[in-house]
Amino acid sequence: MRTCRAALLHEFNAPLIVHDDLQVDDPKHGEVLVKLGASGVCRSDLHTIEWTGRVAVPSMLGHEGAGTIEAVGPGVTDLKVGDKVVLAWVAPCGHCRMCERERPALCTEQGQFEFGSLLDGTSRYSLHGETVAVYSSSTFSEYCVVPEVSAIKVETELPWEYLALVGCAVTTGVGAAINTAKVSKGDTAAVIGCGGVGLSAVQGARIAGASRIIAVDTNASKLALAKELGATDLVNASEVDAVEAVRELTGGVDHAFEALGYLPTIDQAIKMTGRGGQTTLIGMVEDTDLSQVATLGLIVEERTIAGSWYGTFLPKRDWPLIVGWLESGDLMLDQMIERITLDDINVAFDRIRSTEAARQVVIF
Ligand SMILES: [Zn+2]
Ligand SMILES: [Zn+2]
Repeated sequence: MRTCRAALLHEFNAPLIVHDDLQVDDPKHGEVLVKLGASGVCRSDLHTIEWTGRVAVPSMLGHEGAGTIEAVGPGVTDLKVGDKVVLAWVAPCGHCRMCERERPALCTEQGQFEFGSLLDGTSRYSLHGETVAVYSSSTFSEYCVVPEVSAIKVETELPWEYLALVGCAVTTGVGAAINTAKVSKGDTAAVIGCGGVGLSAVQGARIAGASRIIAVDTNASKLALAKELGATDLVNASEVDAVEAVRELTGGVDHAFEALGYLPTIDQAIKMTGRGGQTTLIGMVEDTDLSQVATLGLIVEERTIAGSWYGTFLPKRDWPLIVGWLESGDLMLDQMIERITLDDINVAFDRIRSTEAARQVVIF
């Protein structure tokens, strides 16, 4: 058992509170204790703050982290103290139908890991005797406890802030391009939303060999960043009609990615997708129905609309590849990272709300 600093959600639609005395219990069977090196601040954390009831409170948010194994529970064989790990925000069981089909993000047997507890239904966190709910990897803390399947060992000297982003934004964006959409050499692509996930999708499309990558955003500085990271064309949606602009450039793209989770831009993504193309939806959105989609176009143009969850990832296959691309410089993160401290966490959420920041990362 130990105490540490952590930012907790006590009340929905209110700032997180940073405590110095979160109690973290020892890892139990099949679990590991991780000393966090860095944790990204993701829009999904903000959704959870704003969507009342999504998780029990108090709760420890944060789901994009990397760190060092500090202790292992009984039965842990693949990881040892001192290993560097990137944390996944899912805990795939390894034997359900989806896991057997190498779709671990779609595992049906991981219980409440994303929203409430570790796999045995309990939490290792408490504050002054009150249980603090788990929120997958729960990385807004100096220490967290996760199932061993959620901690993937990496061997690299890359900085923690890069490795933390592999845990969510990079895998989600790069994976959407490479795994979900399977962008191929010569394809054309448009990416709506140039935050951490969208910029990763831009880079995934570039690595896959897309011939044209159109970045769409309303923020000129984010568009400039997209250009640095591989976009060939920029569309400022605050100045022009984004659908018309993309159609003018390409006649409709082979791949449109929506990385904001906003219905009007989902509509735009569908409309800028060309014949035989695919619209890939990445941004989390409150549930709704898409009955306004022009279905005839889907049929006669063989267009597809696909969801992408965690970049259709397979961590043991994808994460060594991504780490390799980071080491070689094919994947560039430094331009999009803003380093902050845990005390800045509420300012960080304000900056996500105002869409100012690309990716803010807490350094511990
Ligand atoms: Zn995330
Ligand atoms: Zn499973």
